[in-house]
Amino acid sequence: MAGYDYLVVGAGLYGSVFASRMKEAGKKVKVIDRRHHIGGNVYTEKRDGIHVHTYGAHIFHTNDERVWEYVNRFTRFNNFVNSPIANYRGEIYSLPFNMYTFNRIWGVVTPEEARERIELSKKESGITDPSNLEEQAISLVGREIYEKLIKGYTQKQWGRDCKELPAFIIKRLPVRYTYNNNYFNAAYQGIPVGGYTAMIEKMLEGIEVETGVDFLRNRAELEKEAVTVLFTGAIDEYFDHVFGRLEYRTLDFRDEELDIPNFQGNAAVNYTDSDTGFTRIIEHKWITFGLDDDGVEIEKTIITREYPKSYEPGDEPYYPVNDAKNTELFKKYRALASEKENVVFGGRLGDYSYYDMDVVIRKALEEADCRS
Ligand code: UDP
Repeated sequence: MAGYDYLVVGAGLYGSVFASRMKEAGKKVKVIDRRHHIGGNVYTEKRDGIHVHTYGAHIFHTNDERVWEYVNRFTRFNNFVNSPIANYRGEIYSLPFNMYTFNRIWGVVTPEEARERIELSKKESGITDPSNLEEQAISLVGREIYEKLIKGYTQKQWGRDCKELPAFIIKRLPVRYTYNNNYFNAAYQGIPVGGYTAMIEKMLEGIEVETGVDFLRNRAELEKEAVTVLFTGAIDEYFDHVFGRLEYRTLDFRDEELDIPNFQGNAAVNYTDSDTGFTRIIEHKWITFGLDDDGVEIEKTIITREYPKSYEPGDEPYYPVNDAKNTELFKKYRALASEKENVVFGGRLGDYSYYDMDVVIRKALEEADCRS
């Protein structure tokens, strides 16, 4: 007997927003997650007064009014603005690519001079219609910045040559001809006060949640519990990899707690050379301006180094690898998924897409709209 209208598999952002909306629509909902906590990859845990972003720093940013209003029902946001810096063999550069970066690399002062340098680089490289990440990057910022700030970082992050990667990955990064270090071009930006976990807890208030439950290990039983399953895990895993495995990139997060108040003076420092094994260091306390929930200065610090690596079964599949081969493979899984009437797939893993948080939320709201 199906006791629930919806069994939501995965208590991350997609599953939590969907569950919350369906509960509001009067449906009976249960949420399960194989991890021992809610929140998926936005999960934060408090250590020494610091909200540690356990699965990598998540800076919320959106231009979507509906999404912004929606999340503000569950939490307030601080006014953190993401301004990462790049460390290339000890040289410090501003990110995203903007006039400070162009000034540091070429000594140019005006936007016109910067444009000329970039156009020249594009011409010298013979690029007319960029067809891969390398060509796209050179067209956007010129060869020098590509060599110092993009090439090494991207090859570490994705484990393959920039010529073999799709151009869209680099289009995530803004290029600005202004002196503006704000990483995101977004109307709204910030971090939930009290951490993401508290925000998700609030979304899931009044909903039955069970963590440490692996749906795929016991799917026959669990599927019977609900009329419809919303599955937010990896779509290829759901179908037992019948067409083969989709590729993912994963990260090793190595935390260090230090008895000093300030390690790097910024929340995020990217290490863009190819020799350093990690791509970036996050110093979590700066995401809340060095203050704890009571506004008191935190004495210690916690840093996390991110080491990208290829995904092996059992790892966490953080990034889909949206190249041509995997996109074709995903389409096959998508077709299989559309035949399943009582299972809905969604989220970064269900859609095999490199979504930002606000997109995930909007998609969950839209999925819920169709069903309420
Ligand atoms: N990137 C880079 N240098 C940097 C930061 C980013 O070349 O210093 C490239 C890299 O290819 C990366 C992509 O831009 O995969 C997107 O970066 P973003 O910071 O948006 O990635 P995320 O935070 O999602 O890991």
